Amino acid sequence: MKSSKFFGIAISMIVSLFASACGNDEGSLEANRPTVVVTTNILGDVVRNLVGDELEVITIMPVGANPHDFQASAKQVAEISKAAALVVNGADFEEGLLDVIDSASMNGVRVFEAISAVKQLDYNKNDHTDHTDHADHADHADHADHADHAHDGVDPHFFTDPARMAVAVKAISDFLIATIEGIDIAVLRSNTNAYVGKLEALDAEVAAMVEGVPEERRVLVTNHQVFGYFADRYGFEFVGTIIPTGSTADGASAQQLTKLSKTIKEEKVPAIFTDTSSSDQLAQTLAAETGQIQVVKLYSESLGNEDSDGSDYLEMVRTNATRITTALGG
Ligand SMILES: [Zn+2]
Repeated sequence: MKSSKFFGIAISMIVSLFASACGNDEGSLEANRPTVVVTTNILGDVVRNLVGDELEVITIMPVGANPHDFQASAKQVAEISKAAALVVNGADFEEGLLDVIDSASMNGVRVFEAISAVKQLDYNKNDHTDHTDHADHADHADHADHADHAHDGVDPHFFTDPARMAVAVKAISDFLIATIEGIDIAVLRSNTNAYVGKLEALDAEVAAMVEGVPEERRVLVTNHQVFGYFADRYGFEFVGTIIPTGSTADGASAQQLTKLSKTIKEEKVPAIFTDTSSSDQLAQTLAAETGQIQVVKLYSESLGNEDSDGSDYLEMVRTNATRITTALGG
């Protein structure tokens, strides 16, 4: 492994020297592969599977980061601005990075929104009517494009559905092929086909797990509106969420929690699913109040660390599906 890596570096240096000699000396000797920057760690893992050793991949959000409010460091802003290509989730998922993404795009960095490739869903309207707390919007008033971000429009959490991810993966691959000059198209296509195959197998695996859960028990109570695409794909019903919107940057209201608590008792909901990347304090309080309900953590919008059972996207989806179907009596 070590020697082949060294060999790879040696080859790249020779290639780079050769390129310089030919008058094309973009990039230093160390930075000889084009860099694709990816915002979320979920998409970072996916892109790594596609590009293999063809490109340098920089993932902005570390494991456990909350994608709704993550802010880039100065170093990361510089990396984004110098990227050969930038892959983002889109639909304003990366609320803390919108300005950085916009300015990179305006400065000529080619940006691809993964969600643009898939059939999109709006947020669940039932929960939405309860949401009156829009106070934080004043902060964004000067940003007209994003004035009603993440609340009234498209649900950005498409990655909870591996079938949609398979569609997005093909589009990301096409984008990289079209954008990065000199990329090995055959390698990329072959990696893409292999990974799409894994996603399709995973989709079938999750569907089979869900089959084991009686239909009337396919209900979801979650921390925020994160599993809309999962619910759409596998036939789950949304009973409610603790944070009534699709963004953990918003708060919960006492009135709406009381209503949710009542619904949980009436419908005998067995579990509340929370995000590993956000606090589950309100869910724990609600569980204590309603009794006989489990609080189950899911890798809903960040991978887990390396030795966890959510260390890559495939594992994360499999673990979430296992935890959901087990908790609901599958
Ligand atoms: Zn979210």
